[in-house]
Amino acid sequence: MGPLSTARRAFLRRIGRYGLSLTLFSGAAPALAGARATLTGIRVSESSAEHTRVVFDLTGDIEHRLFTLDDPHRIVIDLEHTRRSEAIDISRTATSLMQGIRSASRGSGRLRVVLDMQGKVRPRSFELKSDGKSSHRLVVDLHATELDPTPIKTSREQRKQSKPEYVIALDPGHGGRDPGAIGKKGTREKDVALSIAKRMQKIINRTPGYRAILTRPNDRFVSLRNRVKKAREAQSDLFISLHSNSFRSSHVRGASVYALSLSGASSEAARWIAEKENASDLIGGITLDDKDDLIASVLLDLSQTATIQDSLELGSDVLGHIGKVSRLNNREVQQAGFAVLKAPDMPSILIETAFLSNPGEEKKLRSPKHQQKLARAVFSGVKAHLDSRRG
Ligand SMILES: [Zn+2]
Repeated sequence: MGPLSTARRAFLRRIGRYGLSLTLFSGAAPALAGARATLTGIRVSESSAEHTRVVFDLTGDIEHRLFTLDDPHRIVIDLEHTRRSEAIDISRTATSLMQGIRSASRGSGRLRVVLDMQGKVRPRSFELKSDGKSSHRLVVDLHATELDPTPIKTSREQRKQSKPEYVIALDPGHGGRDPGAIGKKGTREKDVALSIAKRMQKIINRTPGYRAILTRPNDRFVSLRNRVKKAREAQSDLFISLHSNSFRSSHVRGASVYALSLSGASSEAARWIAEKENASDLIGGITLDDKDDLIASVLLDLSQTATIQDSLELGSDVLGHIGKVSRLNNREVQQAGFAVLKAPDMPSILIETAFLSNPGEEKKLRSPKHQQKLARAVFSGVKAHLDSRRG
């Protein structure tokens, strides 16, 4: 966390100095918030089989955020207001600890760099300011962790064998004693959700590199907590909850996609803290036990913020594809405090496919053909999202 706060402190110092002009000329704020930097080089060195160092050369001051993801193990580094020079070659960056590096430009000028690891590592990062001779540098040290008994794998083939590339958790809303919304013709939300989820599972399992699990495989009641738990146990990469809406006015119609809201996340973070033991494996190998609750909550917030950002991007890709087969209620991804979306490390969205309270949409939701179209559209959105992240 050190480098982040250093950058932030520098930023605050600048704000302090220019506070007045910021107030008077608020248009100048983006420039002060960090001149755009270019990533001009990535250097990888290996001092031993247990230590790899990755140095990023930059043309200016940046703010970065680093977090880890498991299964497969990877380190994600977000560089704010940074673009990558075309000239960088990252094709041969493998070391004993690292399989390789990839990068992709994200929304709002952010560059995301992903280090694909051979196994679990302990990352540490710090920034070095330009000293006249050298440019700005971001240094990421990767140390093998003794805590991880997994043997270091040597080839990509082994990694592929261990797990399908992506596991998608499909969560049909409601079930059992909870029917969800009920349409005028008696269509129950729980049945529609299960039917669409099963169709989607078939489509996904037919696709190489993808596997789908259902948090509720039949008409039974499953608590929200257990749905998320099931998805986590299957090591799901994404969580997709399927619902259909109802409203007092039968005119309201169209699909919506939700991600977790930040306010919802922060209250949930408090609950996760109370369950430190369970939470420690959720934030990428940072053990919480030896840190005080404040730091723990900051770490978890960072992890959750990154997950929500991912969820919003996933949601927007899915929304775009649903829009091709259905009317949309809202063109933007909505945010709310749904309990089922609160896993801090698994991008999660909730889809309200249509309104059962609208007679026209109820009719459509009953149609196997339309259900199939929806299932295909949602998965196309998921695939588009995951493809864009491959870098
Ligand atoms: Zn519902």
